[in-house]
Amino acid sequence: MSGPGTQRIEALEAIIVDLPLVREQRFAALDARSQSMVLLVLRSQDGIEGVGEASLPSGPWWGGESVESIKANVDGYLAPLVIGEDAFAVDSIMRKLDDAVHGNSFAKAGIEMALLDIQGKALEQPVYNLLGGKARDSLPVAWPLATGDASAEIDEAREKLDKRLHNIFKLKMGAMDPEADVERACRVARELEGAAKVRCDPNGRWDETTASWALPRLVEAGVDLIEQPLQRWNLEGCARLTRHCPIAHMLDESVCSLQDMQRVAELRAGSLISLKIMKTGGMRRTKTLSEMALAAGIPIYMGTFLESSYGTGANMQFCATLRDLPYGGELSGPLLVAESITEQDPEYRDFELHLQPGTGLGMSIDPEKLAAFRRDRDYSLHAVQR
Ligand code: MN
Repeated sequence: MSGPGTQRIEALEAIIVDLPLVREQRFAALDARSQSMVLLVLRSQDGIEGVGEASLPSGPWWGGESVESIKANVDGYLAPLVIGEDAFAVDSIMRKLDDAVHGNSFAKAGIEMALLDIQGKALEQPVYNLLGGKARDSLPVAWPLATGDASAEIDEAREKLDKRLHNIFKLKMGAMDPEADVERACRVARELEGAAKVRCDPNGRWDETTASWALPRLVEAGVDLIEQPLQRWNLEGCARLTRHCPIAHMLDESVCSLQDMQRVAELRAGSLISLKIMKTGGMRRTKTLSEMALAAGIPIYMGTFLESSYGTGANMQFCATLRDLPYGGELSGPLLVAESITEQDPEYRDFELHLQPGTGLGMSIDPEKLAAFRRDRDYSLHAVQR
């Protein structure tokens, strides 16, 4: 299979990479000191290399997949279905992957990203031109406050404000007792009032009673957005909360698939949707999900799984096609990760991440950095992991 416009895939390698974090990140489910991802490196018969990144927020707590499961399922089941296919036939490749392997949206999204990278490079076009074209050059980026210590978090936020890096802050919640957690959030919100926006994300760890108790307190302290306070499956509860929520009630875990989005639109279960390429299985399907949300009159937001500099550049290619993001987004991964694996550095200035020039995904992997941080080399970060 070759001819005009074809890029037959000859090789696919899945590489686990471990990068240290600049500080401990306290999620609802765990404390993380490093961030791991899988790079999917595809090569076509013309020697064009496309790279995708499947990144996870420190292990399987969010989506069920881990870097180890991604590599195992790619090597054993997904790669053989991609080898020999034309990178331009992305629709039929993704359909094949869905027919053969249930779920595994992170693994599939990483493969799709690499296919689009090859397409872009072969056509000498940035990937955003394959997804509908550019609607923006930059994205306002929220910073996660996730140590659990309000005083330290206020200092951290002030430093980000001074450097003009971030003026939106998202408190990761759900790890502590709700009363202490809400008190912490209210303190941070009051302290930063007027200087920055403060948002809360308990990652689905609250029940309805707790959320109904917490919401008026958070609103009163000036919080302008609450993300997924309720369990992901409790869409009826989410709908009840939305009716009484005077601020944006953003759904993240509750909206992964297109079917999730359809149900949320029917129930009016949220008033804002967090888009993430990994949870929905690729950029193209995430684009469809965004259109479904907008068609239902529900605005969208650009979420993150703390991607590396590479994955963040890729996410920005997708994000560039989204015209209306009234609450911005949070592509902050490279600032939280202490090391980069790319030749280019993502450009953060004036509170926004700026689109990288270039073809494909606009980023290239630095081979020396990759050699230093890939897990299957002698140098690894296992010693500092718990
Ligand atoms: Mn979230």
